[in-house]
Amino acid sequence: MNWMEKELERLADASLERTLHADSRVSGFPGYTGRGERRLLNMSSNDYLGLSQHPAILEVMREALLTEGAGSGASRHVTGNLLPYGRLEEALADWQNCESALVFANGYMANSGVISALVSRGDVVFSDQLNHASIVDGIVLSRAEHARYRHNDMEHLRSLLHKYRDKRRKLIVTDAVFSMDGDQAPLRELVALKREYGAMLMVDEAHSGGIYGRRGEGLCHELELLNDVDIHMGTFSKSFGLYGAYICGSRTLIRWLVNKARPLIYSTALPPSLITGISKALSLVQEEHWRRERLQAASRLFRSSLRDAGFHIGTGSSPIVPLIVGDNDRALRFSKALEVEGIAAVAIRPPTVPDSTARIRFSLSTAHTDKELIDASLLIRNVGIQLGVLRP
Ligand SMILES: *Cc1c(COP(=O)(O)O)cnc(C)c1O
Repeated sequence: MNWMEKELERLADASLERTLHADSRVSGFPGYTGRGERRLLNMSSNDYLGLSQHPAILEVMREALLTEGAGSGASRHVTGNLLPYGRLEEALADWQNCESALVFANGYMANSGVISALVSRGDVVFSDQLNHASIVDGIVLSRAEHARYRHNDMEHLRSLLHKYRDKRRKLIVTDAVFSMDGDQAPLRELVALKREYGAMLMVDEAHSGGIYGRRGEGLCHELELLNDVDIHMGTFSKSFGLYGAYICGSRTLIRWLVNKARPLIYSTALPPSLITGISKALSLVQEEHWRRERLQAASRLFRSSLRDAGFHIGTGSSPIVPLIVGDNDRALRFSKALEVEGIAAVAIRPPTVPDSTARIRFSLSTAHTDKELIDASLLIRNVGIQLGVLRP
């Protein structure tokens, strides 16, 4: 297995090796992460609404653990479809105002399982170039033609829709908010194109569910496009503070997925205590609108502080704030310097993002205070000057 060492050396030389470091929970402080003896402001978590340590969620999970047991014991098609699943899926359909909902083990399995259940050889998937890796893997798994369009470029998408107009089934798929850039997909234009070319439309709300919409339903609701989105996907692993994912759509779609989505069929059901915790998180996401308002205020404040400092942070308005550094090694050094200053903010490098766009990806949380964000932006500015990303 010499080849492996050689390849790893090459990755390390290019500042592209990935390593794992140990983090620990700082009990009662969802906005922080423990690293060794230190407590760092966590600006690299997707716990947007600060729910990951919510006492009401922990309480129902503890109770469910005692009554329902630890693991589910089987896949949902066998004997793992315990009662909390049905209750959650009803509540999800009600929340999203759709006919039916289906829970998956996580977002990766939802995307890879749904896309490979909907299309196959002879079909085509139109996918934004910056879509999440789980979407890309779903397309590869499906064996359908992969028609990648330039990021948010509707003219390019239109030309591909035209080119592949004679394919059997056509699926357009996009992130609603892009995970590494924090900008939004042009959903209205996507709906218009899907109608014009008779395609299906799938929207991944991993970074917008819980954050947009009056009850946190997501961006499709905020834009009142729900009836035009055929496959609506979201996760419980980000703003819900837990783990898992859902698909919402027509009764027929869900019936199809129950029969065809292999990650659902050939994998064990989630632990019932988790499902119970998700149900509790779902009511909190709907009821506690202040968490969304606080998150929006935090995003505005942090974005304007970084802009005032002279950084270019893209066009989005979401709690995902990319600070593009370009060079891989410089992005790593930036992240390490921030850690010294008490901020956990990881460097995101290729292949997660395109070549020469290595970045620090900040993500904000309801749990962050104005003072923490202002202090952080001053420290970020100093590091930016030190490393020559900013001119003094
Ligand atoms: C995180 C993410 C996923 C995967 O969700 P998990 O539940 O973490 O597996 C899918 N799509 C997008 C856009 C994501 O950001």
